[in-house]
Amino acid sequence: MSRDLELGMDRPITRRDFLDGVAVAIGSASLLAGKAGATTAFPQDRPGYNPPTLTGMRGSHDGSYAYAHALRDGNAFKSARAPVDTRETYDLVIVGGGISGLAAAYFYRARNASAKILILDNHDDFGGHAKRNEFRPGGRLLITNGGTLSIESPFDYSQEARGLLSELGIEPVALEEKSEKITDRTVFQGLQNAVFFDKETFGTDRLVVGMPGGGRGPATTSVTWKEFLAKTPLSEQAQADIARLQEENVDYMPGLSDDEKKDRLSRMSYKDFLLNVVKVHPEVIPFYQTRTHGLYGVGIDAVGALELWPNFPGFEGLNLEPGPYRRLSFTALGEHIEKQPYEYHFPDGNATIARLLVRSLIQGAMLGKSAEDSVLANTDYTRLDQSDSQIRIRLGSTCLRAHHVGDAATAKEVEIVYGREKQLYSVRAKSVILGCWNMMIPYLCPELPPKQKEALHYGVKVPLVYTAVALRNWTAFKKLGMRGAQTPGMYHTTLNLELPTNIGEYRPEISPEQPILARMLRTPCKPGLSARDQQRAGHADLLSTPFSTFERNIRDQFARVLGPGGFDPARDIDAITVNRWPHGYAYEYNFLWDPEWPKGESPCEIGRQRFGRISIANSDAAAAAYTDQAIDQAYRAVQEQMARDAS
Ligand SMILES: Cc1cc2nc3c(=O)[nH]c(=O)nc-3n(C[C@H](O)[C@H](O)[C@H](O)COP(=O)(O)OP(=O)(O)OC[C@H]3O[C@@H](n4cnc5c(N)ncnc54)[C@H](O)[C@@H]3O)c2cc1C
Repeated sequence: MSRDLELGMDRPITRRDFLDGVAVAIGSASLLAGKAGATTAFPQDRPGYNPPTLTGMRGSHDGSYAYAHALRDGNAFKSARAPVDTRETYDLVIVGGGISGLAAAYFYRARNASAKILILDNHDDFGGHAKRNEFRPGGRLLITNGGTLSIESPFDYSQEARGLLSELGIEPVALEEKSEKITDRTVFQGLQNAVFFDKETFGTDRLVVGMPGGGRGPATTSVTWKEFLAKTPLSEQAQADIARLQEENVDYMPGLSDDEKKDRLSRMSYKDFLLNVVKVHPEVIPFYQTRTHGLYGVGIDAVGALELWPNFPGFEGLNLEPGPYRRLSFTALGEHIEKQPYEYHFPDGNATIARLLVRSLIQGAMLGKSAEDSVLANTDYTRLDQSDSQIRIRLGSTCLRAHHVGDAATAKEVEIVYGREKQLYSVRAKSVILGCWNMMIPYLCPELPPKQKEALHYGVKVPLVYTAVALRNWTAFKKLGMRGAQTPGMYHTTLNLELPTNIGEYRPEISPEQPILARMLRTPCKPGLSARDQQRAGHADLLSTPFSTFERNIRDQFARVLGPGGFDPARDIDAITVNRWPHGYAYEYNFLWDPEWPKGESPCEIGRQRFGRISIANSDAAAAAYTDQAIDQAYRAVQEQMARDAS
């Protein structure tokens, strides 16, 4: 109790698990048993509704998945009354208001300017993983991404994806150049990357500032590995092994051909590579274990060694032939393909793409004309679902069924049933695009062929958590000379200051005495299991962890890492938002665990087949967790339905 008080668990930061004054944490039983709500009273229709300003548990917030889980468990229809027929008919209903669903609406309207389109999404905000978080510490607006961040991809954007961004006014290269000109980061100069060794994992709590490379961003120090390691609590043997791994170019696989080396590396985890090929002391493993969390959602025990070539240490001396290799995931393949590299992000990440799509789709939803001015523009949520609007976005609405009225081959319409608050509703449409998650689709469309359903169930989305903490100041970071730390043994495995992106009129002041955001990453993986089982266990872990557990761990982590710099979590933390994504990244094929499929026979290719008037978009359909892939899949799905209409 006294430690709780020291950490500030009693402090009045915003911990809202409530929306608009109404508790949204409802279990499926109560959800299905209540009375119908009046359609005019839905939260999104009330003036002032603005979900990006909510803090506490966000991402897949409480209440958003109750219907989906009831459907999985076979309860969604059992105890509910028959759906109310809204008598609404549309040219197209889109399930999922993420970037893929919104892009599908955009592409469809481009081909049919008068189309009536309804987009259903189960969350309280549109954007799917492209979510915006806002904070006002000390009354100053700070904006950040709740999920997807950067406009970048392992491959060049397709003509369609690039074209869509361009039509929305997003020119990443030009925006990046402009933002560099107006963003002064001199205040961060000299701050270094650090590692925090925690007592539970490394025997003692110790912060070591100044890690030579391998941290976040470019190397910020001239310290050698030996100098750095000498300050750590690692044993002499572990230190010597890390220095050897990092600094010596050894061919650890002599006598093998290039192909043999790559094949072997693709069949062993990076952890096994370190232990059995490089032959490091086991104590070295925790130092690297979580380095893959951000990109893969699992640790080095579940990521193939070849995936990490050439960005991780140990490969230099192997002299591997540069270029693509067949047993690499979508993400890793991109490392070996020539492309025009750029990496730009808006302050709220790719939420701006979603916001600009909504601005383009629905008149009056957001004022302004450019990508730059959109950053400070508010969405008028009351405009999203107006009966006189050609395109409507209905939030808090979980699709439970999309079935052809009659035989799929000849039907003229699809009936769509969705649950919203405590009532089921139905609408009809000529076409349906499922821009939702693959694993949900067999439940929505039980009439799909069994082979397709099995393929849709194959991928297990990657759970992860993006936490944003609003700090009243960052003098402790400055005093310790660090801009962030890897915290490999702790609840969140990174803790970094957010380096702001200035754009348009958004130019937050960032001196150490001013408020700032810190970003933390947590992946609830379970080393020792296969990647897919780790992800399944992670879903359960995230959905059963209350906000208070996150908060306690966040406060403890800040106190231990930054305490020596004078940080007091009870005083210095202003707000916390935990963006919980139990179903996060699309599942990419991982050749440590997945077979190689012949072209056209991978689960995502089988799963995304058109079924009558229903097409499947979303990034799962590409088995690739990237924004451009979500857009490309939307384009394909729209083309399919247009071609069917024309035939
Ligand atoms: C934390 C995180 C960080 C990422 N970072 C990047 C990055 O930096 N760069 C990048 O290019 N990509 C990144 N990605 C991947 C990228 O975000 C995705 O590829 C893309 O945004 C997915 O868009 P989508 O529309 O396919 O799916 P989603 O964004 O998941 O949208 C689908 C929507 O459908 C809803 N839905 C599901 N079932 C139903 C139903 N039955 N009824 C109604 N609605 C339903 C979901 O709740 C969701 O809101 C990241 C992903 C995550 C999770």
